[in-house]
Amino acid sequence: MIKAGTFKGKTIAVFGLGRTGISTALSLKSGGAKVHAWDDNSETVERAKEQGVPVTDLRDADWSKFDEIVLSPGVPDNLPKPHWTAVKAREFDVPIISDIEIFAREVMGRAEENRPKIIAITGTNGKSTTTALIGHILRACGKDAQIGGNIGRGVLDLDRMHKGTYYVLELSSYQLERTNSLCANAAVFLNLTPDHLERHGDMDRYEAAKRRIFLNQTEDDTVVIGVDNPEGRRICSELKVSNGRRIVPISGRKSLGFGVCAIKGKLYCNQKDKVVEVANLNKAQALEGMHNWQNAAAAYAAVRSLGINPQAIGDAILSFPGLAHRMETVAKIVKVRFVNDSKATNADAAKQALTAYNDIFWIAGGEAKSEGIDPLEPLFKNVRKSYLIGEAGPRFHKTLSKAKVDNKISGTLEMAVLCALRDALNSDAKNPIVLLSPACASFDQFKNFEVRGDAFRTQVQQLDEMFQREKETMAKRGSAA
Ligand code: ADP
Repeated sequence: MIKAGTFKGKTIAVFGLGRTGISTALSLKSGGAKVHAWDDNSETVERAKEQGVPVTDLRDADWSKFDEIVLSPGVPDNLPKPHWTAVKAREFDVPIISDIEIFAREVMGRAEENRPKIIAITGTNGKSTTTALIGHILRACGKDAQIGGNIGRGVLDLDRMHKGTYYVLELSSYQLERTNSLCANAAVFLNLTPDHLERHGDMDRYEAAKRRIFLNQTEDDTVVIGVDNPEGRRICSELKVSNGRRIVPISGRKSLGFGVCAIKGKLYCNQKDKVVEVANLNKAQALEGMHNWQNAAAAYAAVRSLGINPQAIGDAILSFPGLAHRMETVAKIVKVRFVNDSKATNADAAKQALTAYNDIFWIAGGEAKSEGIDPLEPLFKNVRKSYLIGEAGPRFHKTLSKAKVDNKISGTLEMAVLCALRDALNSDAKNPIVLLSPACASFDQFKNFEVRGDAFRTQVQQLDEMFQREKETMAKRGSAA
């Protein structure tokens, strides 16, 4: 845990006692702050208390004594409706901050030569993959990489800092909008498409929150920016004129005069007049698809900016094991590959897997988003047959039938897997893929997308074992005959 020593003697309210809230309260307490923590859920308050968090009912508290309040990222202070703690904070002029702000102040509170390195990652899509990949590369290169923020452990729950630590932080727009003191040695901005607009109000404000990842950077620091979409290109040119820091554009699909790009899966670093091939991503099974090539280009650029050897980075990228539920290959049964992309909870995310493969036996459905699967129609040509699960079944059946895509309402995931395996085995496809990329939330049938993906993996692995046993029995029979 990181002790928030810069808050010593301050009186701080903490609202929202999930995993991050608890670690924030404990970090502040161990740093010597007077902490008053609370949550709307009484069971959550009890659980926090058992873990040593000092709790105070903030509804009856004297708000004039609070120096600051840490609000959980999920708690809105403005749209769609300000939470009551945010209303109180405004009334009493109490600044609202995030756990990332506390972390940033701890870093800035150290002498410059003793500061750890910070690699911060944001974007609408690909944050977790890029964060995990950067962490993997740094560890493979022998560095003490601490990975957290919006992924895995909360930032204040990470190991204590020393000057050799590399903090690799996934940051959401919710965290960034309450952070002022961050100064990232490398700030990665992957891409920007409409998301979370109910909270930010419009694209301008969403972008403004994300752009806070560049705050306080100086000419010693690096911006890594995805230029595969028009927003990224515009932000890149705006940053170029505003500050002396290094700016490295990255692309997963097209060649760049300067920067890091992947072309047909080959990753190139283009500096001055020299173009160097640094990795062949076609050999990295956990980084399939142009979107992942963008993530790999970003990871390379960020780590390279910290002075790590290019060859070592290239080698480490190839050994990245990937993240669960994101185009994760879970088994191959005879000729059929099974891919778990349960994290694809909307059409935009499912688009990536449907683009990356052909001969897809596609398991889709669940709790549909407003756009359904209509935006995916141009990719239906890659689908051999679709197996529909959950509430969205009848609606997707209509869309697919209208587009003349063979489909079947399977109802449950279990049934869909069995039918997809049978059809894929019997098909003339050389390398068929059974793909779970639901383009839907999971809540109608599962607790969350992780539980859905785990159920898929478990069933597929059981089928795989069954096929293996069958093969062994046949082989024994064959040798006995
Ligand atoms: P995030 O943490 O931003 O949600 P993830 O790395 O968990 O992103 O990936 C979630 C999904 O987003 C993936 O399953 C994939 O479909 C899609 N995705 C990943 N990287 C990118 C990217 N660079 N551009 C567009 N989509 C992406």
